[in-house]
Amino acid sequence: MKAIIIGAGIGGLTTAIALQQQQIQFEIYEAAPELKAVGAGIWLGGNAMNVYERLGLADALKASSVFLESVFIKDVKGQLLQFIDNLDIQQRYGNATHAIHRGTLQQILANAVKQPIHLGKRCVGINGNVVRFEDGTTDSADVIIGADGIRSAVREQYVTKAQYRYSGQTCWRAIINTTLPASEQVSSGEVWSRKGGVRASISQVGDQQVYFWMTKAMPAGSKFSPAEALTYIRRELAPFDLRIQDIVSRLDPDALIHGDLYDIQPLKQWYRGNVVLVGDAAHASTPNLGQGASQAIEDAYVLAAYLGQESQPERAFAKYQARRLKRAKRVVDLSWMLGRLTSVKNTTGSLLRNYLIRHTPNRIARKQFDFLYGVNLNIE
Ligand SMILES: Cc1cc2nc3c(=O)[nH]c(=O)nc-3n(C[C@H](O)[C@H](O)[C@H](O)COP(=O)(O)OP(=O)(O)OC[C@H]3O[C@@H](n4cnc5c(N)ncnc54)[C@H](O)[C@@H]3O)c2cc1C
Repeated sequence: MKAIIIGAGIGGLTTAIALQQQQIQFEIYEAAPELKAVGAGIWLGGNAMNVYERLGLADALKASSVFLESVFIKDVKGQLLQFIDNLDIQQRYGNATHAIHRGTLQQILANAVKQPIHLGKRCVGINGNVVRFEDGTTDSADVIIGADGIRSAVREQYVTKAQYRYSGQTCWRAIINTTLPASEQVSSGEVWSRKGGVRASISQVGDQQVYFWMTKAMPAGSKFSPAEALTYIRRELAPFDLRIQDIVSRLDPDALIHGDLYDIQPLKQWYRGNVVLVGDAAHASTPNLGQGASQAIEDAYVLAAYLGQESQPERAFAKYQARRLKRAKRVVDLSWMLGRLTSVKNTTGSLLRNYLIRHTPNRIARKQFDFLYGVNLNIE
């Protein structure tokens, strides 16, 4: 069996590594002319780390990331809304959240792919087993894997049409070259405003690399020059704690990445014929749960395992979808709901929300951790 992977993001690269482990022949094609360190930081959930444990990459990732011993949500006045003890999570599920620079993650994944990643190869058509690229070249395979992200052309043209949903939030991200105090490196989280629908977070993701992000509830399509964005961010974060303000004061406005947050309405079908989807192409979620990439990583492992087991691709796809679709949908739904909660703009609504979160029984949080991190990765 031979597979073609379209897209060398986190989902595509992890699929390549998982196929490699299954000794399935593949080629991987990426539209971008080079694998650049795009994006800022990312949190990898314990479930993703457990997959990488099985793929032999966990040690390399742990050496280049920051283990978060605890994760919190606080309100802007410093009141603790939620506290997650990751040492406990680690003990119960094997691994817990690691924060890493996206460029570092991409580098580790790309280095683990033991064959060339074809760059500057935008897929523009699929005809049966043949994939056509923008430069006029073609390749063919038994299985074509669309790992081409939320705006997946593979999905739209060959599997199913998706409906994009604007979350109501826009987001700025950046890496700032500095170091947090030691105690703040191992404990990170997000801070929620009491009015205006603002959230912000800082976390150490590597040596001299602090990942900053902020979301703000506003209509889609806002445009800011880097300087305007920085002025706006500083103003919105004026009521936030001094550490966040200090980090933001070191921000290079040209390093800001700005984008509106979208997901896709959960799909009912992830494959058609010899074409199958993984990652954001199949189930892009809003980033509120910090699980988008982790779900892509689970997809990669499960799909490769079934392809290793089944000689007929469609049987493997059916098993993969049966195993993954409902779980990914629940992540999309939970993340969407959390996003709605954080979009509350008025003080009364925010205080009520905060009260409810603070009084959420532990058993509900525990159930959610079981769901997110306690996933069984064994393939019967
Ligand atoms: C603000 C923000 C913060 C986030 N934070 C987290 C987090 O902390 N934790 C987490 O788990 N997730 C997080 N996510 C989600 C995570 O980034 C995505 O779920 C993940 O990157 C999806 O990976 P992917 O490989 O499926 O898609 P992508 O990363 O989008 O990769 C798709 C690749 O396909 C290529 N491509 C596209 N079209 C073609 C084509 N026609 N031919 C060839 N190549 C093509 C693209 O160039 C790209 O390299 C966040 C998302 C956002 C927006």
